[in-house]
Amino acid sequence: RKLVGKLSTGCVEFNEMMGGGIDTQAITEMYGEFGSGKTQVAHQLAVNVQLPKEQGGLDGSVIIIDTENTFRPERIKQMVEGLSEKYGQEYDYEEFLKHIHVARAFNSNHQILLVDSAMELANELKNSDKPVRLIIVDSLTAHFRAEYIGRGTLADRQQKLNKHLHGLQRFGDLFNACVVVTNQVMAKPDAFFGDPTKPIGGHIVGHTATFRLYLRKSKGDKRIVRLVDSPNLPDAEAIISVTTAGLRD
Ligand code: ATP
Ligand code: MG
Repeated sequence: RKLVGKLSTGCVEFNEMMGGGIDTQAITEMYGEFGSGKTQVAHQLAVNVQLPKEQGGLDGSVIIIDTENTFRPERIKQMVEGLSEKYGQEYDYEEFLKHIHVARAFNSNHQILLVDSAMELANELKNSDKPVRLIIVDSLTAHFRAEYIGRGTLADRQQKLNKHLHGLQRFGDLFNACVVVTNQVMAKPDAFFGDPTKPIGGHIVGHTATFRLYLRKSKGDKRIVRLVDSPNLPDAEAIISVTTAGLRD
């Protein structure tokens, strides 16, 4: 078994809450309302993973399975400029973009298949100077939610999601990579999905994800990140800021 790596979020409190950073060989689920910052954290991790270990990175590249077309190269540019500011050193954003492999998923079956393509790419890059150390699925559940409508489809949806998550866990184990997935919760109670504070996908996502992070909005650019039901860490909260330069304390 390979040693677990830690990927820095760029935020001191957030890292400390996670025992140093986001673990490799584990699934980390971020759930929260629209605008709570899930996609922003995902973008920042896609930048940070490329940094050297001294700067909290994993010297790696990243694969993003983008299901809602929310990946923005311009946002990466701002965050890389933010890094230059933070470390007083020049970074080339084109270099960063080169190591972000984005695949659009058009439906849930396609999304599941893309994990196989991700495995192939990660195998190719395994002995390169930037092996894949992070895979992001943003959003894990949006397609499933749109496609499986009505009570009779629930078991089928859960079975598919379960299979998908096991594929992702295998990816994390095989490549010593972090697996980060997002999951939206509704602001208002929903007739079908029920309790608004519970993530879509319910228990299967809950039990498979090793780390569950509940994000919520606070004042201005502040966001509260709560670690929920971790097997080895205390429940805790961290406050982060989502700024133009990226995530900050
Ligand atoms: P959804 O469930 O809809 O996907 P989300 O949790 O992914 O939502 P994000 O897209 O991560 O939400 O957050 C959007 C918020 O991030 C914006 O409302 C804004 O506050 C902040 N944000 C986005 N881009 C920038 C930027 N360039 N500079 C500063 N803040 C930004
Ligand atoms: Mg989003």
